[in-house]
Amino acid sequence: MSAAGVEIERVSFGYGRTRVLEDVSLSIAKGEFFAFLGPSGSGKTTLLRLVAGFGTPDSGRILIGGRDATKQPPWARNVGLVFQSYALWPHMTVAQNVAFGLERRRVGRAERDRRVKAALDLVGLWHLAERRPAQLSGGQQQRVAIARTLAIEPEVLLLDEPLSNLDAGLRAGVRTELVELQRRLGLTTILVTHDQEEANAAADRMAVLNEGRVLQVGAPAELYDRPVDRFVAGFLGTANLIEGVVEQGSFRAGALALPAPDAAPGRATLALRPQALALQRDGGGVPARVVRAEFLGGHVRYTLDLGEGIALTAEEPHLRGLAPIAPGTAIGLSLDAGQASLLRS
Ligand code: ADP
Repeated sequence: MSAAGVEIERVSFGYGRTRVLEDVSLSIAKGEFFAFLGPSGSGKTTLLRLVAGFGTPDSGRILIGGRDATKQPPWARNVGLVFQSYALWPHMTVAQNVAFGLERRRVGRAERDRRVKAALDLVGLWHLAERRPAQLSGGQQQRVAIARTLAIEPEVLLLDEPLSNLDAGLRAGVRTELVELQRRLGLTTILVTHDQEEANAAADRMAVLNEGRVLQVGAPAELYDRPVDRFVAGFLGTANLIEGVVEQGSFRAGALALPAPDAAPGRATLALRPQALALQRDGGGVPARVVRAEFLGGHVRYTLDLGEGIALTAEEPHLRGLAPIAPGTAIGLSLDAGQASLLRS
């Protein structure tokens, strides 16, 4: 199987007068596992469908393997699309389901048999080739749907929320298998998901979308550590967003002060992850009061009041012998400027 890169160049798209995508540009490398991550309605599926050839952008271009595919119909692009619903034929066996697309493409018998076996081997289901979909678990059905797509030997694999119909318990396991399969094949893959954990765990890089725009692109940890705006900071896990002012090289909000030598003076928002706040039980640091302590097993989540209307969430890993701090207790808070991000809005 060979892989191709995908270039999305300044793509805009609308359904009638509803604008869905605005000037989207993304460059997905050959062999990369890329995710489109965003809330429901942000345009992820629409963008994926444009890459697959279901619809034509109002403006902009889509290149697959360096070739302009913008106006090509789906069948002329060598891409495979796996949907949320597996849409397997219930009356056909697993092997027949996988062979179906090959028959339609008029692949000869011997080659077809070879590809069906290879694809089912890849997802570890060759031993169930003669079963019908109803005799498989949800996870196995999804693997058949993936095998069916791999059998056509696409250069790009497109996955539209492929795990969302699976039980929570199965999802992580199928996700791991999918990532291992992708790594083994080196197949360029685009995953659409609204689940940040899924994107984080699977993707080499991802694009965060909101309201039809790409807000930020990068490796999952990069985006988590250095979000550019409030939306990205809040969408990728919990973030404390603190309104304040930058003056004379520091950010200030109430009793909080952090060095910000490179920031422009004026109003600013600081983002701080809850685990970047260290609680000092014997004082020191910025004075704060514990408002709430929630014991969550692996960690304790604290709501802290810093006065002047500033409330923060802090998380501390829980270890045996470390009693949660009672509400009402005065503590100190130490902040590491290296863990804080100043946001553009
Ligand atoms: P996502 O995959 O991020 O949930 P979609 O790409 O499905 O988002 O949808 C983006 C926007 O386009 C939504 O506002 C949705 O209502 C709208 N939309 C999607 N499909 C259609 C359609 N066939 N006709 C009109 N509007 C649509």
